Amino acid sequence: MAEERGYDVVVIGGGGSGLAAAIAAADQGAGVIVLEKNPVLGGTTALSVGVISATRTPNQTRMGIVDSPEAHYEDMELFSKIYTSRADNDALRRVLAENLPDTVQWLSSLGVEFFGPTEESPHRKPRMHNALPGARSYIYHLQRRAKSIGVQILTNARARRLLVSDGRVVGVEFDQPGGAGTVARAARGVILTTGDYSANPDMKRELISAAVADAAPVNPNSTGDGQRMALELGAKILNGDMFHGGARFVAPAKPSWISKLPPSRWLMRLTNLALRYAPTSIVRRFVMGFLTSVLVPSHNLFGAGAILVNKVGERFADESRKTVFELAYQPDGIAYILLDGELAEKFSKAPHEISTAPGFAYAYLGDYEKNRLDLFHKGSTLEELARSMGIDSAKLAATVEKYNTSDADDAPAGPPARGQRPRLRSPPFYALGPVRNYINFTDGGLAVNERLQVLDAQDRAIPGLYAAGSAGQGGLLLKGHGHHLGWAFTSGRLAGKYVTNRAGV
Ligand SMILES: Cc1cc2nc3c(=O)[nH]c(=O)nc-3n(C[C@H](O)[C@H](O)[C@H](O)COP(=O)(O)OP(=O)(O)OC[C@H]3O[C@@H](n4cnc5c(N)ncnc54)[C@H](O)[C@@H]3O)c2cc1C
Repeated sequence: MAEERGYDVVVIGGGGSGLAAAIAAADQGAGVIVLEKNPVLGGTTALSVGVISATRTPNQTRMGIVDSPEAHYEDMELFSKIYTSRADNDALRRVLAENLPDTVQWLSSLGVEFFGPTEESPHRKPRMHNALPGARSYIYHLQRRAKSIGVQILTNARARRLLVSDGRVVGVEFDQPGGAGTVARAARGVILTTGDYSANPDMKRELISAAVADAAPVNPNSTGDGQRMALELGAKILNGDMFHGGARFVAPAKPSWISKLPPSRWLMRLTNLALRYAPTSIVRRFVMGFLTSVLVPSHNLFGAGAILVNKVGERFADESRKTVFELAYQPDGIAYILLDGELAEKFSKAPHEISTAPGFAYAYLGDYEKNRLDLFHKGSTLEELARSMGIDSAKLAATVEKYNTSDADDAPAGPPARGQRPRLRSPPFYALGPVRNYINFTDGGLAVNERLQVLDAQDRAIPGLYAAGSAGQGGLLLKGHGHHLGWAFTSGRLAGKYVTNRAGV
């Protein structure tokens, strides 16, 4: 017989949405446990950049920015129209826009310090709040708060199966290392906050494509367990084919000093003040280590003429496509971005950045030379460049020669010809890399209503079952920066409130 434990609320997953849900439920007086399959809390939330977009926050007020949730709701639609033709979940979008001011205020009250807000078009006002020193701050402060109000947190506890009695979800079976299965009973309800399925090749293959299934996830623990457990009870996934991903620079071998700063409220408050009043050059140095580490190379590089070569010096794909899936199948799954002197000069100053945190700062070629020497290769000839990259020089020279002379599309089996793009011929030559294909996250969440209850195929709430964050994305598009974290914390808090108030459930 499995051991049984009883609670009011069981939260499955200890990332941003799960911790927010647990705190909200415990604040209503519920006995709450968080089951987290990893040895540590955090999930994708802790790996993220940490940007959250919101209106009517203390930061906006301090900067004299007059803004409203209604305007935010309208601007989110503009983002969606830029990126996709599919419809958003307007009811949930309204829930998000209306609750974001409260969410950011709440995070601030727990000790999260925000730099900004900064601008991002087509937001009509600056709305991007940047957590200092990064997303770790959320988990640090949420975990402290959860523990201080008596939330039980069990790590190394992987939920396996939801338990149902008389049509109502009443608990969950979970595994612990070396132990027999354990049952956590939930008198009021279970909240699924297990994140996305970017690390589940089977789900990615079925819902997206084989190429995406083969690309590595940023978070190897995002295995879609919440979606899977709910599907077993008749739930459905919306926007299952949507994902974020592409080529990114590999992480530095040693984390930067910024990423090691403890995210304590007072230290970050001082840092924030310093950043607000320091000369731009100092602010720039502060953010560069971070900018050149976690962000993707701009797609404009390829439009302007840069090419991708693999570690044996071959071109292998049409670089102009948004996601170059072939990258995953190259030797060691890596490639380099090749530029000549003319392109290098162009990408050394505004408006041609190599990577950016929008509205915050921009990184140019020189910033990579200063901050990421491990990614930076230079040679006065292609042969010298190849030696710096550790690849066959004759092969690299032949690849560039073939590219430069291929005006028409004469090689249908291989990568497309150069076409209208400029030749790569002016020394010195540069290579940035390695880059690798990553799937950041998938957007397929369970269908939920405005009370965050999980819906079945006929859009009826499954009693006792709630979902939040990526697991409960409910058909929201969340385009632009800072809306995924916004949804994780907002939906988590709301699910924690609704689960403790059974009216209408
Ligand atoms: C590189 C990167 C940068 C990003 N930057 C931003 C940004 O700046 N702004 C923004 O808005 N969004 C950003 N995002 C997206 C954002 O981080 C996520 O959408 C958000 O963190 C999801 O939160 P969550 O709580 O739903 O999931 P998670 O934070 O992933 O938490 C899920 C937790 O559930 C646990 N779990 C899973 N299965 C089980 C199980 N069976 N039993 C127990 N526990 C389980 C996992 O281990 C994990 O800890 C970024 C994502 C990436 C990858």
